Amino acid sequence: MPYAYDAPPYRLPGQIAEAQAATRYMYPLGVMVNRNGQRFVDERSAVGNLTYAKLGRSILEQPGKWALQVFAGNEIGKLHEGYRKDSTVVHGDSLEDLEASFGLPRYSLTRAFADAIQESASLKHWGLSYGSTMPPFLGLKVACGLTFTFGGLQVDRQANILDEDGQKIPGLFAAGEAVGGIFSENYPGGAGLLAGTVLGLRAGFGCNTVL
Ligand SMILES: Cc1cc2nc3c(=O)[nH]c(=O)nc-3n(C[C@H](O)[C@H](O)[C@H](O)COP(=O)(O)OP(=O)(O)OC[C@H]3O[C@@H](n4cnc5c(N)ncnc54)[C@H](O)[C@@H]3O)c2cc1C
Repeated sequence: MPYAYDAPPYRLPGQIAEAQAATRYMYPLGVMVNRNGQRFVDERSAVGNLTYAKLGRSILEQPGKWALQVFAGNEIGKLHEGYRKDSTVVHGDSLEDLEASFGLPRYSLTRAFADAIQESASLKHWGLSYGSTMPPFLGLKVACGLTFTFGGLQVDRQANILDEDGQKIPGLFAAGEAVGGIFSENYPGGAGLLAGTVLGLRAGFGCNTVL
């Protein structure tokens, strides 16, 4: 997921609120570019809940392993508090201001917004219009945050852990983060706790009793 560039190493579960405030999920309201000022994902290809998990990897693939989120006009007021407190935030009256502040090629942000508006206008999906890209502007740096490793133990539908030959290991169960193979490359937000709950109940009480 896109995550605060300057986030300290929070300790969970004690600092869950702080860790949550460092998420940078609101990219569908603006554009995301790399340090060359180039967009590298379609910010609005689906609702954010279906794109945020895989975007961490996309950011890691960019030069310097960071990206810039840029928002304009009324969209700025919709950003959550974590955005406003971010130490990398830069405000500007023009996109050229932000290009200069972040060392991006001149007019690269203008091009990025124009591309995003054109995509939206071509009805590929909902999105930005010229009206939603008026000054002021706000930009901030983001890094890769980890949602899942996508790895883990192989289990069957009743949460029994399987050995390398695919055979049940008697009396050994797994659920939640310890399980691999449920999600791969991407993840629909909210499904993690659901998967953990389903397999956890099956492991604890047996599939036929509870579900
Ligand atoms: C940033 C982020 C946002 C997420 N948002 C959502 C969401 O909105 N909705 C959703 O459904 N899912 C979400 N998920 C996924 C969800 O959080 C996980 O699927 C869920 O927390 C997994 O639960 P778990 O109990 O298996 O593992 P964890 O929650 O990771 O719990 C494992 C616990 O074991 C402890 N532990 C580890 N090693 C040891 C050890 N050796 N001895 C003792 N204790 C140990 C850890 O400290 C931890 O407390 C999100 C995940 C992340 C990272």
